[in-house]
Amino acid sequence: MGHSKILSGWGRYPRVHTSLGRQGIDEGHGQVIHRGLGRSYGDQAVCEGGTTLDNRFENRLIAWEGNTVVAQSGLSLQELLALAHPRGYTVPVCPGTQYVTLGGCLANNVHGKGHHRDGSFIDSVLWFDLHTAGGETLRCSKEVNSDLYWANAGGAGLLGYIGQMALRLAPIKQPLLRTTTYAAPHLEALMGLLDTKGMEHHYSVGWINTAKKGYPGVLTCGEWATANPGSLPISPSMPVKFSSISVPFAPPFNVINPVSLAVLNGFISRSMKQKSGIQQPGKFFFPLDGILHWNRAYGPHGLLQFQCVLPMHRGVEHTQLLLKAITLSGCLPFLNVIKRFGPSTGRFLSFPMEGYTIALDFPVNRSSIALCKHLSTLARKLGGRVYLAKDAVMTPDQLAPMYPELDAWKGIKRQMDPSGKFASAMSRRLKID
Ligand SMILES: Cc1cc2nc3c(=O)[nH]c(=O)nc-3n(C[C@H](O)[C@H](O)[C@H](O)COP(=O)(O)OP(=O)(O)OC[C@H]3O[C@@H](n4cnc5c(N)ncnc54)[C@H](O)[C@@H]3O)c2cc1C
Repeated sequence: MGHSKILSGWGRYPRVHTSLGRQGIDEGHGQVIHRGLGRSYGDQAVCEGGTTLDNRFENRLIAWEGNTVVAQSGLSLQELLALAHPRGYTVPVCPGTQYVTLGGCLANNVHGKGHHRDGSFIDSVLWFDLHTAGGETLRCSKEVNSDLYWANAGGAGLLGYIGQMALRLAPIKQPLLRTTTYAAPHLEALMGLLDTKGMEHHYSVGWINTAKKGYPGVLTCGEWATANPGSLPISPSMPVKFSSISVPFAPPFNVINPVSLAVLNGFISRSMKQKSGIQQPGKFFFPLDGILHWNRAYGPHGLLQFQCVLPMHRGVEHTQLLLKAITLSGCLPFLNVIKRFGPSTGRFLSFPMEGYTIALDFPVNRSSIALCKHLSTLARKLGGRVYLAKDAVMTPDQLAPMYPELDAWKGIKRQMDPSGKFASAMSRRLKID
């Protein structure tokens, strides 16, 4: 059996008591949940009062044929990309950090900067093995056990343990990105750029300066380079090569304040001056990985990330409403990212749907908790939904109207796991266990 521990997600809030075991070694009595690299922000990768099973060591690459790899679900994107890029391949959908496992990517059906081209993570999964509460192993694909295939993509580990999976990789000519940056004087211009330049390029991501009137911002777009201009060295482990700056411990106070915000905004306005260039993939896809343990900078109480998607219709007006609610609350959001999603390719609890997705980080305190709850209600009223991988505060009545297939998903959960073996602090909070 595992040992007792206080554990949290990447946001370091909430912190819960759990027994920590290791997948494949500890069985986990009572309720269990699996955990990859713990990069979901809230409480979905911790089983309060039960066992949290660490899956990081189930990370074998099993087969590689052409553009298809078969791997255990504990393999990280960092490990896979370091092997794939020198061979002329990439993982089609990567979230904003490479420190995630394949199992975690599937369980949240993660999205990247190219949703309008590549869809979400499940779109490159050919099949996976689901180990159920009843002790069966079911191979799930679009053709076989297809409801389970879709219900696990966003199912947050609540339908069983995802073991090995087959993943389709995408070919690339060079492990380098050709990038272009566009400055926008206000939010409307930024969202206009997302709709035009963002859709023309393979990848795009916007950053909003919420401290300035009108919300100016910057849009960065990229494509895989077809040739190396010779100015950048290509290292075999390139996606992971970074400076090893680290926040060594959580300071006793939150260092995110108007001063650090001004530093960040200075950085944003400097990058506004950049035009085109060639970038290494790590810097383009995973800029935050450049500072290890950056989540500690938010101090002892941790951080909340609010991420929602709002429909295209009146998108600018509705995004402005959200930002105004934040300004009125007096809470300071630190990193403000906006992206555009293409049409939804998932089902059940999968997050992406066509529209604009916005993600904002707040230090945890009473006001930011209340604000994130309020923003969840507002997002629902505006026809949007909140991303469960980031959420730590929503209530069951807020969740239900956001995900129209929730009841159907609960039916699958009851059928696959009648005794509720797979449960997390999140599933209890949202009453979906
Ligand atoms: C800096 C940063 C940037 C991010 N950017 C993005 C982004 O751009 N897009 C995006 O979509 N997400 C993003 N995320 C969120 C992150 O991609 C997801 O939360 C992802 O699920 C984390 O993977 P993990 O391996 O750390 O899983 P964990 O956080 O450990 O677990 C996440 C969920 O997966 C389940 N799970 C994990 N492994 C298994 C398994 N083998 N079987 C069954 N269930 C399993 C867990 O039970 C849990 O419910 C970001 C996170 C960070 C910290």
